[in-house]
Amino acid sequence: MNCKKHLKKYILIFPLLLIMLLQTGEAEAVSLSSITSDSIREKEGQISAAQDEKNQLSSALTDIKALKDQLEKEKASLESYVVALDNNLAEIQQKISELNGMIVEKEEEIRETEEELKAATQKEEEQYAAMKYRIQMMYEQNDDYYLETILSAESFADLLNKLDYIQLVMEYDDKKLEEYMLIRQYVEVCREELDAEKEVLDEAKAGVEKEEASLAQLISDKETEIVAKQGDISNKAAAIAEYEADIQAQNELIASLEAAVAEERKRIAEENGRRLTYDGGMFTFPAPSYTRISDDYGNRMHPTLGVEKFHNGIDLAAPNGSPILAAYDGEVVAAAYSGSMGNYVMIDHGDSLYTIYMHASALYVSKGDLVAKGEQIAAVGSTGRSTGPHLHFGVRKNGSYVSPWSYLG
Ligand SMILES: [Zn+2]
Repeated sequence: MNCKKHLKKYILIFPLLLIMLLQTGEAEAVSLSSITSDSIREKEGQISAAQDEKNQLSSALTDIKALKDQLEKEKASLESYVVALDNNLAEIQQKISELNGMIVEKEEEIRETEEELKAATQKEEEQYAAMKYRIQMMYEQNDDYYLETILSAESFADLLNKLDYIQLVMEYDDKKLEEYMLIRQYVEVCREELDAEKEVLDEAKAGVEKEEASLAQLISDKETEIVAKQGDISNKAAAIAEYEADIQAQNELIASLEAAVAEERKRIAEENGRRLTYDGGMFTFPAPSYTRISDDYGNRMHPTLGVEKFHNGIDLAAPNGSPILAAYDGEVVAAAYSGSMGNYVMIDHGDSLYTIYMHASALYVSKGDLVAKGEQIAAVGSTGRSTGPHLHFGVRKNGSYVSPWSYLG
């Protein structure tokens, strides 16, 4: 009545049967899980290509954004440099204005000194002229004058006085001339000094003006550079906008391809009349009238062969003809007879999850039927490799047997 007991009988053919069973199950699973049209595969290829292109665009966009940031930094540093240059220029212009003030003052001094010089020169010339006149007069009247002076002297003392007087006049003239000459010479020296000072100021002004001109040129160059940077930045911003638009277009392309794939999958699912997804719900107990678990899932030591044997499902001993229920909603993918499984049913629950029911005495469903959880699909029996009425219940997930207990709440 339990599988273990008749294992002995079929010990030679069991591995072969097991392989056949697994192959049958897997072949069925593969054909079901691979319901994908060429059109979906083609679209998925296009999605992948569009994604690659989008990634390339994104990476190019990142590069351009970095370039734009760099340009903006350069522009900002140029602008602050120009601000500093403008400050320098303002200082230089201040210096020029100060120098201009000094030059104007110096020119005024020079003008005044020139007037002084003119006056001093005139005075000197007048003195010289007066002196020359007196000397000339004295010489012209030389003999007479001296004679007259001598003769007209009332006394020797008077004569001496008169001669002294002449001497005094001459000395006075001489002294005055000397004095005026010295004044004129002094004024001339002053004027020369002022000229020299003005020359220094003129040179300083010329130097500062040269500095101003080169600074203004530098500022103008930098401003040209800033304009060029701004042009570059604008170009980069335009490129960024273009890349962003391209990426947006790629996103839309990907979204529309994905929508088309989803639509097609839905259509295929509808054509197949079933949902392809398992929602994770717990199974109902497939043989509610069972009396005991005659063999559990897992490795078992074979009672006589002394080797470990894997039991891929649970055996539920139950009365002959008692109901076998669908453990969960799904589509019957097999309802047939095999030498080892007897009458068996296999149900696809979606997402590569299948349940298998073996050794039935009768089957109530056919391949392609949709069944609901708890719906009767067969009756307990002892067909195939079985010694007594029981249900062998197995669960396959992603092509391998798993413990049914994981799904039995
Ligand atoms: Zn079994």
